Amino acid sequence: RAKAEGRGRWRFFEPEMDARMQLRRALETDLRRALAMGEFELFYQPIVAVASRQVSGLEALIRWRHPERGLVPPDAFIPLAEETGLIVPMGEWVLARACADAVSWPGSPKVAVNLSPAQFASRGLVEMVAQALRNSKLDPAKLELEITETVMLQDTEATLTTLHRLKALGVRIAMDDFGTGYSSLSYLQKFPFDKVKIDRSFTQELGRSPQSNAIVRAVTDLCAALDMTTTAEGVETEEQLEALRRKGCREAQGYLFSKPRPAADIAGLLDKLDRESRAGALVSSELV
Ligand code: C2E
Ligand code: MG
Ligand code: MG
Ligand code: MG
Repeated sequence: RAKAEGRGRWRFFEPEMDARMQLRRALETDLRRALAMGEFELFYQPIVAVASRQVSGLEALIRWRHPERGLVPPDAFIPLAEETGLIVPMGEWVLARACADAVSWPGSPKVAVNLSPAQFASRGLVEMVAQALRNSKLDPAKLELEITETVMLQDTEATLTTLHRLKALGVRIAMDDFGTGYSSLSYLQKFPFDKVKIDRSFTQELGRSPQSNAIVRAVTDLCAALDMTTTAEGVETEEQLEALRRKGCREAQGYLFSKPRPAADIAGLLDKLDRESRAGALVSSELV
């Protein structure tokens, strides 16, 4: 601080920096308290087969039910949770909760859980996943772990080892937000992904930009050749869904089918989507 006062140009920024640090510390304290108090909730969003519109899985998306601020989205607290390491106990709770919820759903759809790079780099990850499976008795094949490209940038050998150990448990691995980070096609060959999720920035440009059309087509073809499923994120319109169908994209996720919904709504939502997909199948068979 004395040093800062010695330099005129620092003094101007100092109060602002202090305020930001204080806000950060307050949020960190609040996050710890929230975890202890059980203020986090999982919402779920269906993932649907493009051809049949049948639900194949649901993605778990964390929310913070804050006593004063209401429902807080993950972008507002996940980055700080990662920086402080709180993501590890938070992620353990997410995994356990998601596996427990999944065994209760009718039709045994898959459940997808997001893993952050900090969790991936933490020591106990594989054992934590194994434990969540044991405790819930969820079929490992019904659990899908989503990781982003940032994970691939970390120690490659360690990442590969962890991925293979996770695969050995019988769970599936998906690459999330494909195309937004430091994407490299070599990742698709090098790492054992079962699925690639095409980021919604591409989906939402479908039909509007020839580049996005070409990228979605190329990724879908490549993944098919490598025996991986493609899921398009952020599907909001029938036009986008139709474009995805023509490009051979297998699965879709987005507001067109449902926004993320609280766990308590999921059995009802699955029932509604099941009836809709049957009705849709009937309509298309009448058209033929
Ligand atoms: P993500 O894994 O890529 O999840 C998809 C995000 O897109 C979700 O935002 C979802 O609500 C949103 N979305 C889905 N369909 C549509 C659509 O049609 N249109 C638009 N505009 N958006 C759509 P959400 O729930 O705010 O989550 C944001 C991110 O936070 C997630 O991105 C994921 O990276 C992270 N996250 C969420 N839950 C967890 C968690 O339990 N653990 C970790 N580590 N990260 C999480
Ligand atoms: Mg995800
Ligand atoms: Mg994503
Ligand atoms: Mg995302």
